[in-house]
Amino acid sequence: VRRTSVQTLLGSQELEREVVVNGWVRTRRGNKYVQFIAVNDGSSIHNIQVVADAEKFPEESLKDVTTGSCVAVRGQLVASQGKGQAVEIQAADITVLGKADAETYPLQKKGHTLEFLREIAHLRPRTNTFGAVLRVRHALAFAVHQYFNDHGFYYIHTPIITGSDAEGAGQMFRVTTLPDQNPPLTEDKTGVDYKQDFFGKQTNLTVSGQLEGEVAAMALGKVYTFGPTFRAENSNTARHLAEFWMIEPEMAFYDLQDNMELAEDFLKYLVRYALEKCSDDLQFLNDQYDKELLERLRFVVDNDFQRLTYTEAVEILKSAKKKFEFPVDWGTDLQSEHERYLVEKHFKKPVILTDYPKDIKAFYMKLNDDDKTVRAMDVLFPGIGEIIGGSQREEDLEKLRARMAAMHVPEDELWWYLELRKFGTAPHAGFGLGFERLILFVTGMANIRDVIPFPRFPKNAEF
Ligand code: ATP
Ligand code: MG
Ligand code: MG
Ligand code: MG
Repeated sequence: VRRTSVQTLLGSQELEREVVVNGWVRTRRGNKYVQFIAVNDGSSIHNIQVVADAEKFPEESLKDVTTGSCVAVRGQLVASQGKGQAVEIQAADITVLGKADAETYPLQKKGHTLEFLREIAHLRPRTNTFGAVLRVRHALAFAVHQYFNDHGFYYIHTPIITGSDAEGAGQMFRVTTLPDQNPPLTEDKTGVDYKQDFFGKQTNLTVSGQLEGEVAAMALGKVYTFGPTFRAENSNTARHLAEFWMIEPEMAFYDLQDNMELAEDFLKYLVRYALEKCSDDLQFLNDQYDKELLERLRFVVDNDFQRLTYTEAVEILKSAKKKFEFPVDWGTDLQSEHERYLVEKHFKKPVILTDYPKDIKAFYMKLNDDDKTVRAMDVLFPGIGEIIGGSQREEDLEKLRARMAAMHVPEDELWWYLELRKFGTAPHAGFGLGFERLILFVTGMANIRDVIPFPRFPKNAEF
């Protein structure tokens, strides 16, 4: 008999047949006549109930079937007498594949705080909460590729080790080589000893694949990258990680309007996909942590996002009754408290803000005719604030060079980027969606460290 997943068994209509299931014991309870063992194999938020009659399984034979142990069960799939499940397994054979000492196994039946679970990141995938989050994470990653593939985009792999730090703004991690693996090079002509860098050249971990994405868009039309991104964020917020995943589409012949339409359609598609494919997991998260989760997700799918300019938003924020920690004035960057006020209190729906002051945005954004603002867009979501940052790009060589000079971005590092404007330039646009911020929104979790299997944040990179 082949092994079947718990998910398949729970939906099975074919009863009275022999089945085999492997998984981890969540609980065992019962009396001297019968024991009930809840087994989970990761395929579902739900467990399968295994019934072990005392006649066949005396207490002694089940002593290693404890919470956390790994078991292989063979038996009959039968209709369940109890409520809470339609089917269960009447056990014929239970083998313990891996014991878990009941005294020392950290995940006992009682609920654990999310803070505690962060300290045992190697075991937390076995909890209901992380099982649900990781299945939702998988579904969303799959949906990203599905959406782009269906819409004629090509998946481009942009480099993780990059030579330029134009975009870094002091947030980059340097790449070094262990000294004894890299024979010392002579000092270069600037006198800097680069022997511990990338074969003599200074390199960093990427903060965004956008510039390389533009290279691909200028040949393939519509592309996207979806990969790990690194930022030396020393901020300890619930929305920043030092290593996160970013989804970055880049499209030739798109203007800011097209960019906004794509962002809205894409986000709605992803949320709808999760609602459809992860209904059990989302129901669990809704009931466990956030009673308005499902309602909020459906609202986002069904309603248009609010669009307004940064300038209009600043007017709203200045006349708001709420006292903000950071006061707002035209020209300052918005903080998450401002973004969330607009979304949660003022408009009560997702917001797309456009046309930010040029001085608070990156050098590559297209300048508006007013000479003060750029064609930027940020998508703001409830509970999150900024979930997407994007823009129409400056396609004019001379205007781009002027922006770079004004912002002290060295031209020699980006000669290849400038050549995209020199040879066959085209209007284009794109954006970056933080994958973990999307998962935060969809799962209703409160802290970004709880939506990635191995979170990286200050002082946290043990394994
Ligand atoms: P924030 O203002 O929240 O710091 P940002 O403006 O610095 O974000 P961008 O450079 O615009 O971020 O990056 C695009 C997207 O990547 C953001 O909209 C966000 O969803 C995500 N993102 C940025 N920094 C982080 C981070 N440290 N951890 C997780 N996601 C991030
Ligand atoms: Mg930032
Ligand atoms: Mg920002
Ligand atoms: Mg941004």
